Parts: sequence; structure tokens; C-alpha cells
Amino acid sequence: MTPQARYDAVVVGAGFAGLYMLHRLRGLGLSVRVFETGDGVGGTWYWNRYPGARCDVESMQYSYSFSPELEQEWEWTERYPSQPEILRYLEHVADRFDLRRDIRFGTRVTRAAYDETEHVWRVETDRGDRVAARHLVTAVGCLSAARVPDFPGAASFRGPSHHTGRWPHEGVDLTGLRVAVIGTGSSGIQSIPVIAEQAAHVTVFQRTPNYSVPAWNRPLEPEYQSWVKANYPGLRRAMRESHTGLLDPGNPGSALEAGDEKRAREFEARWAKGGVTFLGAYGDIGISSEANEHAAEFVRAKIREIVADPEVAEKLSPRNHPLGTKRICVDTGYYATFNRPDVTLVDVREDPIVEITPTGVRTAAAEHPADVIVYATGYDAMTGPLLAIDITGKGGLSLRRKWEAGPRTYLGLMTAGFPNLFTVTGPGSPSVLSNMIVSIEQHVEWIADCVARLRAGGVAAIDADPLAEDAWMAHVNEIAGQTLFVRADSWYLGANIPGKPRVFMPYVGGVGVYREKCDQVAAAGYEGFVLSS
Ligand SMILES: Cc1cc2nc3c(=O)[nH]c(=O)nc-3n(C[C@H](O)[C@H](O)[C@H](O)COP(=O)(O)OP(=O)(O)OC[C@H]3O[C@@H](n4cnc5c(N)ncnc54)[C@H](O)[C@@H]3O)c2cc1C
Repeated sequence: MTPQARYDAVVVGAGFAGLYMLHRLRGLGLSVRVFETGDGVGGTWYWNRYPGARCDVESMQYSYSFSPELEQEWEWTERYPSQPEILRYLEHVADRFDLRRDIRFGTRVTRAAYDETEHVWRVETDRGDRVAARHLVTAVGCLSAARVPDFPGAASFRGPSHHTGRWPHEGVDLTGLRVAVIGTGSSGIQSIPVIAEQAAHVTVFQRTPNYSVPAWNRPLEPEYQSWVKANYPGLRRAMRESHTGLLDPGNPGSALEAGDEKRAREFEARWAKGGVTFLGAYGDIGISSEANEHAAEFVRAKIREIVADPEVAEKLSPRNHPLGTKRICVDTGYYATFNRPDVTLVDVREDPIVEITPTGVRTAAAEHPADVIVYATGYDAMTGPLLAIDITGKGGLSLRRKWEAGPRTYLGLMTAGFPNLFTVTGPGSPSVLSNMIVSIEQHVEWIADCVARLRAGGVAAIDADPLAEDAWMAHVNEIAGQTLFVRADSWYLGANIPGKPRVFMPYVGGVGVYREKCDQVAAAGYEGFVLSS
């Protein structure tokens, strides 16, 4: 038997989180091995190469803050960065900080087991690697386990089928083809207008109409870019202390107290500005149904204004969930695409998909011929990529077993019974409810500081105290319950995956409040954690 390679730390994933984690741990003088399923760096931005793929956070904010030199030298070109531009940025980061030499690409971690005698994680991959490490950091992403629904007959389809999150790297020429797009979440809403420009015909299969706000994307003005660069330290601080990790602090006022005219002005101004900060129009949109309905009806009125056919406009109008309780979408010409004669909308709640046939998609009422199927059907969010790994902790406890009724963590950073296992943007942290780069940097820095302090103090293992975990979970649930989030069948709650427990996974308290809590815990000697020598 070959001796197991030993590292101080193993990191799983080489997206924004894994790359920065590697950089920080290496900065502590640790030996680190990163495993990444993909053949390159980038994570989300490596996989999601579908037409129209773009970030909904502005480029100057969706970037690392840890290196002032990097901040100054990188030139973003658009207000909202496209997938190729973000991927170029991450490739630049990998080269600039010489990260690739510690990353093993094309290698999926399949198993990780905690060895209580030696306080190490024994990690296995699909390429036969067997390594041991004191610390294991999962940077596997919240939206990386692509989900394709199990339609009868899917395998019989004669043409190609592509999930947006696994788009072929060489691209797909859709010119002159009949394309079926299944799903109208963020990826569907971004890709449908671009696909419609190429295809002969697009049939869109919609289960849930979603709220979408225009991006009004444009080239980044050089003056704005210079201003941000000159003011980055203060701007980054404001983002870290904010609720969402974005620069727009939001209006704390009440939509109910504002009169009709004032409210309409505010919504119009936010619509004209574009982007996700539409949600920040009033402080009570997320907690009061009545306030939310004002904002929701404003968007529906916009849909009626844009879409010529009133019946299609009504089908596109979300009515079964409050605005913002499913991820709000940001689009370029989405609703107007349905004015094209070569785009058809099928509401699968009225007319469900029965099967995929060799030549298309059959619903209860009709057969829809297609040459290509695009699955814009989302992800097994947050827990999917973690539970895809067979992880066992103390006493052989399996993570799949422990999380059978839903994920349980302390601060979204660790889960009791799995010492020295850190989860970057894990369930129970703000993660997907924030500008994720702000949340990723905060977690990576907290974990790196923790590892440094443990090593300096001769601490072999850190584990979450089950009581602290229970209290944190109770808090996460309690504050989620005070919001409208729990009213929607969203992927935040696992509702898109049949059989997944219905638990609200991210922390809604805001990134600023959350950071303070994490810092206090560390300052108090890792309160709520159990340290063992
Ligand atoms: C289409 C799309 C649009 C998005 N838009 C936004 C946005 O506008 N704003 C925002 O803040 N966030 C957005 N996100 C979320 C986005 O995922 C994060 O912003 C960020 O890229 C996450 O980085 P990460 O490193 O944590 O995870 P990822 O980028 O998902 O990287 C995780 C990596 O881990 C690898 N991995 C997983 N499991 C294993 C394993 N077992 N073994 C080896 N490797 C493994 C994966 O292959 C992947 O490359 C979007 C996500 C998607 C899918």
C-alpha cells in the first residue's frame, strides 16, 4: 500500500471560495491540496457558459477585496460582468497568486472520514487519491449540484440536451433550430432572450413565473471605475457592514406609510436604475404581505405594459409567491421576448409535461417539437454538493444521516460531530442571500484566523458544541419565520427537490450583523465550540 500523502489542509472546490482559501492557508505557511471536479478554476463561472450568463451583482462589487493591488489593476468592462469576463478574472487571480500548482483538476472528492485517533481527515477522490489532512474545508459552492428533473422518456430524445450549469465549453450553435427551454428561474430568464435571437423557434416551459427587473447593462464608465478604485476601502467597509453585501443600503422606510404617489415614484426610480436593489425600495417589502403586494403589483403592471398579448402577460405574472421570496431575477429583454412570433410560452401548471419524446416535449395538451432541449432547472442548492460527498465524522456519524431532516450547523461554519471540517458559505450563514463574494471572504478569513490560532495554541481539533448549534438553528429559523421568505416554495427551502426536507437554509439576519456575531465568537475564545488538544 502506498503511504498516504499528508497535508495541513485539504480544500474542496476551486471557485471564488476555494481559490481564496488556498491563498490564505498558504499564507500561513500550511501545505494545502485543493481538489476540483472541473478542468479549470472558476467554479460557477467555469460551468455556467450558457448564452446570456451574467452576474446580477455589479462588477466593481462582485470581486475580491483582499488585495488592493488586484483591485487597482483589474479593469472591468461592463456594469454587470458576463460569465467569460468573470472567468478571465478568476484565471488571472489563479495566475497572479500562483495558485494552480496546488490544485488537482478533474478530480472529485468522493469520501472524507474523520480519524479520531490522529485528528485527521482521510480524503478520497474518484481518481484514486487518498490523502490525510488536519483541516478539511469544503468550498463546494451553494449552486453547483445541477438538477435535471426526471421526466419520463428523457433518454429517448434524439437531439442534444444541455443543463445551463453544464453548458458545453465549445458552445452550442442554435441557429435555425427549434429549442425547448425548461425552467424560468434566473438562468432561464437570462438565456431565453439570447437563445430566441438565434433559434428558429423557442418553446418556453414555465412552472413558476418569476419577478424580473431590468439590468440596463452597459459599458462601465471610466470615471465611475476610477471613482470606485479611489474609494475602495470605504466602499468595501460599507458593503461588509450592510445587510446584503451590496453598496445600495436600501430604504428603511415603510411602503405602507408612503402614499400611492411617493411609492410609485420610488418603484419607478428603482426600476429605471435596474437590478436587485429594487428589493431595497422599502424596509417592509420582506416582512409585510401588504407592502410586498404593492411592489409585486408594480412589476406585474410593467409586465402588462411590455407584453402585447394580455393572456401571455398574465401567464408571466407571478401571483403565487411574494416578490423577493424566490431569488429575484435581473434580465435583458426577457418579457419583451414573448412579443416575438417565434417564441411560445407553455404554462406547465395548466398543461403539465407528460414526457420527453424522441422529437420533443409532450404536454397533456400538445406535442412540442424540438431539436435541442435546454434544462434551466436549477440546483440542489446549498446541501446538494456537500451531501454528494460521503462524509463521516466522529463515531462514524454520516453527514447524510445527521442532515436527514435538514442541515444543522453552528454559524454555517461547522456542524457538530465533524471536527476540523469547515463549510464556506454553509447553510445557516447569509450566503445566497448576499453578494456572495463578501460572504465568501468573511468565511475564508474567519476560518484562516481560526486555523492559525488553533495551531499556535497547540489545539488539535475544534468542533461545534451541539447546544450552540441547536441555539443557532433556532435563531436562524425564528428570524426566517418573521419574514415572507417561508411563504414561497423556493430552493432556499429545498422545495425544488422532491423529498428534500423543507428547512429555510440561509441566515436572513444580514451580513453585517452576522459578521459581528462571528467575530464576537472568535474573540471570546471560540464560544460555542469545543477545542481539544
Ligand atoms: C448562474 C449563476 C448565477 C449567479 N449569480 C450570482 C450573482 O449575481 N451574485 C452572487 O453573489 N452570486 C451569484 N451566484 C452564486 C455563485 O455561485 C457565487 O457567487 C460564487 O461563484 C460561489 O463561489 P464558490 O467558490 O463558493 O462556489 P462555486 O463557484 O460553485 O465553486 C465550487 C466548486 O467546487 C467544485 N466541487 C463541488 N463538489 C466537489 C467535489 N466533491 N470534489 C471536487 N470539486 C467539487 C465544483 O466543481 C465547483 O467548481 C450565481 C450562481 C449561478 C449558478
